[in-house]
Amino acid sequence: MLPWVVRRTRLPLLSLRCADCRSESATTGEGRFRVNANSKLLDVWLLVHCVSCDRTSKRIVHKRAPVRSFDPAEIHGYRVNDPELVASRLLDPLLARRNRFTLDWAGAWRLDTPPARLNEAPVQVKVVFEDPVPVRPERLIAQGLGLSRNDVLRRIECDIPLRRPTSAGFTFTVMAGD
Ligand SMILES: [Zn+2]
Repeated sequence: MLPWVVRRTRLPLLSLRCADCRSESATTGEGRFRVNANSKLLDVWLLVHCVSCDRTSKRIVHKRAPVRSFDPAEIHGYRVNDPELVASRLLDPLLARRNRFTLDWAGAWRLDTPPARLNEAPVQVKVVFEDPVPVRPERLIAQGLGLSRNDVLRRIECDIPLRRPTSAGFTFTVMAGD
């Protein structure tokens, strides 16, 4: 089975309306948290910047959470702006929902494919997502195989809907052409 991998090349932007300039795009930039902690309670925000006017705003990561419920390594990660922690919080669907933004993945990911010999069809392909990039299987397959969308619909057998965006792994089979 051929492995295909979807992975991010950078962090996605946030689709989020700026309160000043009405732009609808923001970035985490270098990736910074703001941490406010006393002995008992912890507040953490992720800082984001409008891509047009650079206005900074805060997205809630933790609000008045009991300090003792955290692994000290996690709190340290917030304090030092650990890039892995920035990525995992930004990509957390719960954080996005709570803070009313969606992720804009345009230009922020790539598809890695080993060379395929389609004349040896049927060929089975397994798609793995290293990052939760929502893709339309139909488009991803067309791109990965260099086929037209019509060819994809004609030659691909897949057990998930080809038109509905997904970021969960799936497999498909390329059938012989004419
Ligand atoms: Zn702005």
